[in-house]
Amino acid sequence: MPADASRHNGRMPELPHPITGQLFASPVPPGTGWPGDPADADTPVARSADEVSELASGAGDLGELDARISVCRACPRLVDWREEVAQKKRASFADQPYWGRPGPGFGDPHGRVLVVGLAPAANGANRTGRMFTGDRSGDWLYAAFHRAGYANQASSLHAGDGLELTDLRIVAAVRCAPPDNKPTTQEKRTCAPWLDRDLQFAQPHLRSILALGSIGWDSALAAARRLGWEVPRPKPKFGHGAIALLRNETREVRLVGSYHVSQQNTFTGKLTERMLDAAIALLEPSDQ
Ligand code: SF4
Repeated sequence: MPADASRHNGRMPELPHPITGQLFASPVPPGTGWPGDPADADTPVARSADEVSELASGAGDLGELDARISVCRACPRLVDWREEVAQKKRASFADQPYWGRPGPGFGDPHGRVLVVGLAPAANGANRTGRMFTGDRSGDWLYAAFHRAGYANQASSLHAGDGLELTDLRIVAAVRCAPPDNKPTTQEKRTCAPWLDRDLQFAQPHLRSILALGSIGWDSALAAARRLGWEVPRPKPKFGHGAIALLRNETREVRLVGSYHVSQQNTFTGKLTERMLDAAIALLEPSDQ
C-alpha cells in the first residue's frame, strides 16, 4: 500500500483506486472523482419508499436518474450491509476502496437492449461501482456480450477500465447488494420505481429485455405492467430461453429469460457459455 494511503478521513483510511490511483474513503462520497460516479454532493437522497417514488418519477433524464439511484438510502438493512462490507472488505481487496453505494445503470443510454439483473454483488459492483464489474459473474457476462458485439472488451475489472457497451444498458431489480443475494419483498418493492423510470427512459428505443434470473424476469414484467404495457396473462413463466412478448404504445418488446450468471449456476454447469450465448442471440434487436 502506498505510504499516503494510510491517510484517514476521520474514520477509515483512504485507499487508492486501482485504475486512477486517486484516494477514496469507503463508501465513496458522491462527486469526489470516482470513475463513472453520476452524483455530486447536491444530488437529492431518497430516505424512504415514498421518496424513491418521488425522486424516480421526477428524474428529468437518465443521468439524473443514475445520480439519484447512486445515493439512495431508503432501505436501512441494505444501507447497513453495503456500507459494512465496504468498510470491512474481503481480504483479497483489503487494499482497495469500496464504492459502497447503490449501483447505477451502465451502458448505452440509447441501447435497444436492456438487461435486468438481480442486484450488485457485495464484493463486485458494491466494490467497483459498476454493474457486474470485478467478479466472476461479470467475467461471464461481459465475455458473452463481447462475443455478441455489445461490448468493446471481454473483461470488466474496474470502473475506468475502458469498457464500453453499444446498444445495451444494464440495470438491476434491486440496486444495493443484499445479504446472501436475497433482497426482501419490501426491499424489491421499495426499489421498483427506479426500474420503472429506467424502463420509461428506454422505451423510445427499446426492442428487447434480457432478464437474468427469475427476480429479473418478475421485476421486468411487473415494471412493464405498472407502465401500462400489455403483458400476457397468466404471467409468463421464467426459464432459460423463455420468451414473452410485451407491447407498449409503440411496439412489441421481447423479454428473454436467462439463468443468472451467478457462480452457483456457472460453477455447477447449470449455465454454460453456449447457453448464455444462445439466450443473448434471442434478443435479435436488429431484426425487430
Ligand atoms: S435497494 Fe434500492 S431503494 Fe433500497 S436503498 Fe438501495 S437503491 Fe435505494
